[in-house]
Amino acid sequence: MAEIEQNVPLSPEVESAFREAYEIGRAVTRTGRVADYIPELAKADRRNFGVALLDGQGHSLSLGDADTRFSIQSVSKVIILALSLKIKGHRETFSNVMMEPSGDAFDSILKLDTRSNRPFNPLINAGAIQLVSTMEEELGFEEIADFARALCMDPDICLDEAVYRSEFESGNRNRAIAYLLKSKGVLQGDPERTADLYFKLCSLSVTAKSLAALGLVLSNGGLNPFTGEQLIAREHVRTIKSLMFTCGLYDYSGKFGVKVGVPAKSGVGGGLVCAPRGAMGIGLYGPALDEYGNSVAAVRAMEHLSNRLGLHTFDI
Ligand code: GLU
Repeated sequence: MAEIEQNVPLSPEVESAFREAYEIGRAVTRTGRVADYIPELAKADRRNFGVALLDGQGHSLSLGDADTRFSIQSVSKVIILALSLKIKGHRETFSNVMMEPSGDAFDSILKLDTRSNRPFNPLINAGAIQLVSTMEEELGFEEIADFARALCMDPDICLDEAVYRSEFESGNRNRAIAYLLKSKGVLQGDPERTADLYFKLCSLSVTAKSLAALGLVLSNGGLNPFTGEQLIAREHVRTIKSLMFTCGLYDYSGKFGVKVGVPAKSGVGGGLVCAPRGAMGIGLYGPALDEYGNSVAAVRAMEHLSNRLGLHTFDI
């Protein structure tokens, strides 16, 4: 049985909603499957589930496997987008990447080849790979990892070497995306180097607690409330959260938007970061995935939390 650990006390209503959500999530872990297209991810224990909450007053709650390290995978696309906006600005970031849901799988090449030279949005592989290629001119892996450490308030974030090797060995589709972008004259750098950095950024190891901190920074307009540091400009946070809302959960983004209504981003490692209104971040980890590639437990837990605590963006 996973341990429940509570830190600074929360209101009883919030605490009981989280405990219920945790139990609901845990009960469905057996209905999902861990990702196996990256062989190292197949080693995760599908029964794992953890939830972490952090708010702007420093209240925190963590339930279950909230300290277990796992690879950030596509949640890194939020960090890549934030950094691109920071160093390149809005106009340059979106000069070669659009802001539209793709309606295709995260690693699809189809429409990129037939309908558009520009990737549909920064939260699918093609979009993130494009942003990494421009970022790579200025920043190396360690500098980007430092930004991830600051956003997640987690100095222990590092490269999971085994996941990175596994991504590197099995990442031919991502290389194909990089080469396709190169062939269209959109990607400027070296496709191999870009793919390599992209693999590394997917292999950063985080916890549900790190994702709760990332959610809090996004929820709080880009400001770390504990240090006073403005990590992401306010206007960029609006862009990032809008894209998370519309494109953050693969082909389940529309339904998640309706049912949960919170800007969020998932990854195939089982992570989910949520940035509801009101200076609050929620991070979840459950490697058993549903048919869309989202954590079954995390999605169910968020549905419950949204209903119980009125987190939906469009609830009045
Ligand atoms: N590294 C994974 C890939 O590009 C990330 C996928 C994901 O989490 O959506 O295939």
